[in-house]
Amino acid sequence: MSQKTGSTYNQDAKKAIDSPTLQKNLHNLYERFGKGAMQVWEELEDQGMRDRVKESRMRTLAHLDIVLAELAENVRKRGGKVYFAQSGQDAIDYTIDVARKNKVRKVVKGKSMISMEIEIDQALAADGIEVIETDLGEYIIQLADDRPSHIIAPCIHMDRNDIGQLFTEKLGIEPTTDPEKLTMVARKELRQELLTADMGITGCNLACAETGQISIVSNEGNIRMVTTMPRVHVALMGMERVTATMDEHRETIQLLTMGAALQKLSTYVSFTGGPRGKDDPDGPEEFHLVIIDNGRSKILEDSDFRESLACIRCGACLNICPVYGKIGGHAYNSTYPGPIGAVITPLLDGINKHADLCKGETLCGACLDVCPVRNDLPRMLSALRYKLAYGDNHWNVRQHNVAESYVYAAWQRAISHSSAYRRMIKTVRLLQKPFIGKNRMIQRMTGLAAGWTDSRDLPPIAKRTFAEIWDEKYAKPQQQTQEIREEKTDD
Ligand code: SF4
Repeated sequence: MSQKTGSTYNQDAKKAIDSPTLQKNLHNLYERFGKGAMQVWEELEDQGMRDRVKESRMRTLAHLDIVLAELAENVRKRGGKVYFAQSGQDAIDYTIDVARKNKVRKVVKGKSMISMEIEIDQALAADGIEVIETDLGEYIIQLADDRPSHIIAPCIHMDRNDIGQLFTEKLGIEPTTDPEKLTMVARKELRQELLTADMGITGCNLACAETGQISIVSNEGNIRMVTTMPRVHVALMGMERVTATMDEHRETIQLLTMGAALQKLSTYVSFTGGPRGKDDPDGPEEFHLVIIDNGRSKILEDSDFRESLACIRCGACLNICPVYGKIGGHAYNSTYPGPIGAVITPLLDGINKHADLCKGETLCGACLDVCPVRNDLPRMLSALRYKLAYGDNHWNVRQHNVAESYVYAAWQRAISHSSAYRRMIKTVRLLQKPFIGKNRMIQRMTGLAAGWTDSRDLPPIAKRTFAEIWDEKYAKPQQQTQEIREEKTDD
């Protein structure tokens, strides 16, 4: 996965918060697509659909070996070739081998998250093959030599001024910020690339084992051209992205487009599964489906995290997330940002390496509510935090912060016993005094607690807690009344 070294989460998050363009775009994203998806679920006529799809996703995962074997068999029956890749490098080697055999000089790509995860563009370029992204957002990102910041809307961090300026610089057009004109420029450029490409590489939104096909959704029509115009089509697929039957496939695709773009169905859903037939007017001469593991088997076998593989990459959890809504995608420093990224990035690429991600989320539960397949991301984020707190040999996790774990253990003991809790409150009340500023707030703490006051002031512990006031006002008088009653009864 595309990573910078070391954690830059805090710095990148601060940079994002200071960007007015990003803040405006993220706010619009939340208002339109975050809230919109919640409304779509409220108004969905078939209220059982989300549960049905979740059940079918989990059932497929439980029998993934059988379902994938059926998929491979049916793709081969259609004349396609299937390759099971253990790792990203394995998938790259296979694809480059296909490219060399077919003397490929230029590749056009459809938007594909897994291609970014395995970093195939860089590998193809290193082999002397030109790679052109054809999804408009991805094309803009490629021209800008930037990174996507959203699963569905890769250049959400840019506005029309940024894009106009970029097109003037890179494509030599007259300055304009008119979206329609900019789109026409991109369209003209891309059409030429599509006409001269030797190979198309796409992802796969979902495969269907029953029919041996894959489906790819788009709103731009580029997928139809990428999958039919070049001589060779290679589809890269995460091994979990499969349904057993076409009925399950149909419902899952519907949920995907509703969660992603509030659409009952996207403008194009392209089904493909083999090379062009004898009587077909178009289509590739070769079709290859590369089914990629790259760490997914380990997730699959862990009952705590298997559910994350039910994800259909709609992006709705990003749109509703209060953290993503402020820091955007780049701070996650991963192919997969937002709440789903905070779960799967550590699982695919190292829990310690990406410790900031699960700790940065609020566990507010909005992602669970909006997720079309009700993925319980807050539960999985907590499970990751648990591993970081206590270490985990199976996932090769070392304790993230030993001192912090002692603090939480002490906190656990204190809140489990009321007398210990009260003693702790009294002690902290004394200790906090030197930190209380003129505004009666704690403005700066030190040591382990310093982060709590880095960007905000904290209210100090009250002179009298709610429990103390309650005791004095209600509990003690009630106790005295009871004692008087008992004395009277004794008399
Ligand atoms: S976790 Fe759910 S909401 Fe988030 S991308 Fe996956 S399917 Fe969509």
